[in-house]
Amino acid sequence: MFEKVLIANRGEIALRIHRACREMGIRTVAVHSTADNDAMHVRLADEAVCIGPPSAKDSYLNKAAILSAATITGADAIHPGYGFLSENADFAQMVEEHGFVFIGPTADHIRMMGDKITAKQAAAAAGLPCVPGSAGALETVEDALACAEQIGYPVLIKATAGGGGKGMKVARSAEELSEAYKMARNEAKAAFGNAAVYMEKYLAKPRHIEMQILADNYGAVVHLGERDCSLQRRHQKVLEEAPSPALNDEQRARIGEIARKAVHTLGYRNAGTLEFLFENGEFYFIEMNTRLQVEHPITEAITGIDLVREQLRIAAGAPLGYTQEDIRFQGHAFECRINAEDSQTFIPSPGRITGYHAPGGLGVRVDSGLYANYRIPPHYDSMIAKLIVSGNSRNEALMRLRRALGEYVIDGIKTTLPLHNRLVQDQDFVNGDYDIHWLEKFVDRHS
Ligand code: ADP
Repeated sequence: MFEKVLIANRGEIALRIHRACREMGIRTVAVHSTADNDAMHVRLADEAVCIGPPSAKDSYLNKAAILSAATITGADAIHPGYGFLSENADFAQMVEEHGFVFIGPTADHIRMMGDKITAKQAAAAAGLPCVPGSAGALETVEDALACAEQIGYPVLIKATAGGGGKGMKVARSAEELSEAYKMARNEAKAAFGNAAVYMEKYLAKPRHIEMQILADNYGAVVHLGERDCSLQRRHQKVLEEAPSPALNDEQRARIGEIARKAVHTLGYRNAGTLEFLFENGEFYFIEMNTRLQVEHPITEAITGIDLVREQLRIAAGAPLGYTQEDIRFQGHAFECRINAEDSQTFIPSPGRITGYHAPGGLGVRVDSGLYANYRIPPHYDSMIAKLIVSGNSRNEALMRLRRALGEYVIDGIKTTLPLHNRLVQDQDFVNGDYDIHWLEKFVDRHS
């Protein structure tokens, strides 16, 4: 096992990785920007190295600075967390070329899945059902019009380099399509420096269902069930649950097996997530995330498996050591993503936390680097805490979630706690009756 791991991230996920390392007797190195001198993970890590100024481009995205920090501290391996460099194939390659272990898949798999067109082609070849759409990139408006004619309106133009919902435009008719095509290309070019776009059938009322996968270096693959991430605002997940209230046992087993086989065929290793849209009983692959995900704790809650620990074991060359039959699913879990934002306007609200009290008790987990008097820097993502709650049944978990949200105090800044408090009282949510568009309408009703 590794002796020392460098954590190339910040915030709650840096702390999450530190905790797994500490429990395994692995020493940790935190890297941080000058804006994060007082961050919790920096305080708790065995060593800390300042790698640059606040701007992420000069610190958390600075590959050379991170590799230098790994060299001077004598780290064995680098965990990239999520966001930042976690899905940067060049970084994964550089890490290995410098003699460190990258805690994740190979650079080739990251590259393949990072381009959504090659990802869909590889997924289809590996037996995954995909959303009907263009065979590859759309070269011209005429191309787009012809393709839309074939698959039928409405259609969705998506950026092949896409992420975070950027570069996605819906067209409901041929008239709308040329504008959507141009807008998506411009947005993709601005956000990713790559204007390439492709087309998918726009599904009317799907749910977002994703499968968690673990694969070792020797061909063993297990799935850890699904997460329902349909509650989204602007294509960003807000509250997730596992298992999905929309799937029956047959559907769950079916997609689990398809996902497991596909990952085996792809020769993928480490943790990964296959994202699907689910509509009228059918699954449609949309993308694969080649990293740990924000919402991984709800899977941990229902399987009892520590995903970061498994990532470390696999990266260190250990065999999985268990099979699909050994995985036991127990109970139900929810996760609320709590952002430093106004809960109605969603305007970011960084600043000093004047008072802080985290909920506790049976089945309650808070993943957050917050503490009283901590100052949230304005330079990064606004997610500041995750509240994960589990119970023996969905209803037990829901009652517990309401109770825990009611106990949570974060003073001094605005947060999205009021949104979560409203959401968990809503009858549709209580019934598990929602699709990917539901939350947008809910937010509109309450603004
Ligand atoms: P990104 O990588 O930018 O997050 P995804 O491909 O993961 O993009 O899609 C993000 C979200 O956009 C999905 O969870 C879903 O809500 C919506 N979406 C994506 N593809 C489609 C589609 N073909 N039809 C309807 N909604 C879609």
